[in-house]
Amino acid sequence: MHRRIKIQSYAALIFALVLAVPAAHPAVQTAPAAAPQKLLTVAEATDYKATSRYADVMIYLRALQKMTPYLRVETLCTSPEGKDVPLVIVGNPLPANPLDARNAGKTVVYIQANIHAGEVEGKEAVLMLLRDILTQAKPAYLDKLVLLVTPIFNSDGNDKIDPKNRTQQPGPEQGVGVRHNGQGLDLNRDAIKAESPEFQGLLRNVLVRWDPVLLVDCHTTDGAWHEQTVTYAWPVNPNGDNALIEFERGKMLPAIVKIMKDKYKTLGLEYGGFRDFRAPEKGWETLEPQPRYTTNYIGVRNRLGILDENYVHADFKTRVAGNYAFLRAILDYSADHAAELQKLVDDADARTIARGLNPSDKDQFGVEFELKALPNPVTVLSFEMETSQAPGARFPQMRPTDKKKTYTIPYFADWTPKRTVPLPAGYLLPLPSAEVIQKLQLHGILVERLTEPVTLEVQTFKLKEIKGAAQIYQGHRTNTVKGEYALEKKDFAAGTYYVSLAQPLAPLAAYLLEPESDDGLLAWNFFDKEIVPQWSRDLAAYPVFKLMKPAALAKQAVR
Ligand SMILES: [Zn+2]
Repeated sequence: MHRRIKIQSYAALIFALVLAVPAAHPAVQTAPAAAPQKLLTVAEATDYKATSRYADVMIYLRALQKMTPYLRVETLCTSPEGKDVPLVIVGNPLPANPLDARNAGKTVVYIQANIHAGEVEGKEAVLMLLRDILTQAKPAYLDKLVLLVTPIFNSDGNDKIDPKNRTQQPGPEQGVGVRHNGQGLDLNRDAIKAESPEFQGLLRNVLVRWDPVLLVDCHTTDGAWHEQTVTYAWPVNPNGDNALIEFERGKMLPAIVKIMKDKYKTLGLEYGGFRDFRAPEKGWETLEPQPRYTTNYIGVRNRLGILDENYVHADFKTRVAGNYAFLRAILDYSADHAAELQKLVDDADARTIARGLNPSDKDQFGVEFELKALPNPVTVLSFEMETSQAPGARFPQMRPTDKKKTYTIPYFADWTPKRTVPLPAGYLLPLPSAEVIQKLQLHGILVERLTEPVTLEVQTFKLKEIKGAAQIYQGHRTNTVKGEYALEKKDFAAGTYYVSLAQPLAPLAAYLLEPESDDGLLAWNFFDKEIVPQWSRDLAAYPVFKLMKPAALAKQAVR
């Protein structure tokens, strides 16, 4: 379709384009559709001059629903500005709930797009993908998988479309939305503190409810120049189950990238940027390790995660095509290995519970990390670079020349613990308020309460220093703390909260509760009221006590 169209909302257009002609399809030749009509996304219908608004996405989903019995629209959350963010459930048969999916032996895969609403390729690609799967006579993947899809995670940010947003990316010429949500929060920094309705909805209605084995989060890169149009990463925080990280890095993603290249003619590259863009040979570097990033977060839940970052300097159509090809390859692989993926995460859960039941000295939690190079180098198909000084610019810019150059260089993507603390059997929290407890429960962590008073030897953390950050970050002055550990006998009253690490989400519980955690609830100010006493200059002890040796305790789960 090569129409010249410029209208404010594309809602009417989508209906108009339910036509009996094949869509111009960027990357993949799908089998002839069973349905006689072809539904087009806004990107396809405008020849990639525009991206869909929230209303367009809803109309598209409704149109698609009329073509298939295999799709249900649920609500992920209500956005700060009042939009019901759709969560699409796809299955054959369509499961009424997670237990149905489990009983049918299906593996649940979750794809999320538009968390940063200037990075809109995922939104367009998942809409195309849903159509292309569901308008086949026998929808692919659904004999093995149940798919959950959030096409427009940040729907408030999406509708603030302006050609002045993300001007570094070529197209869509009619503009894209903004990075932040309706509260001004970056949703890809909200995974731990979970203060946005979007992330809270993701926890309640996807991760805790459906427990997908794999989460795919779609983004667009910002910097480096290269030929590969899809870049990707795995969860890089080493406090997640290492066997899962190694499987993704060593087996799963290389296999997916090979499928993407062989079957979909699209090149992939490990996500990153040059450590020093003036000296590319120094290496290529991955993202930060903290689980505030969605992909790292899913790793500390001991599930598989893929960060998709589409190449910013490619044109919009190529970026959407790349994202589409990557999702296809991910689903091809996941359907072929569905039982294996499920077993991998089930085994990780079993290992985690076994460790929590009987923690030993080698069960450690990383609180500081260093970035090391992986054994194998990365191959960046890039260009010889030159510097240019734009008039008025504060810094010279590196620009690629026309001359192609392949950089085979170290890949710094192995975040290794530099300092660790021992993992306990559980945490005791004598807290007057339920705020922290509700946060733990929101993440799906099992919390119990002592039903009888008890005296226990526990490890305490005595705070010596607490510093709020000078800069406000995501609405917080995050804390950095110093303190000392000590073993003490302590009395705990009935009603004291208890978080056992003999549960599948133990690594996440440790991340939230360890005092020196680099992304924990103490860092995010959730304990500020407890640790600063009213009438004394001394800091109170951190009110989370580590039970280092397992003890049989009388307790009851908190609802
Ligand atoms: Zn992003």
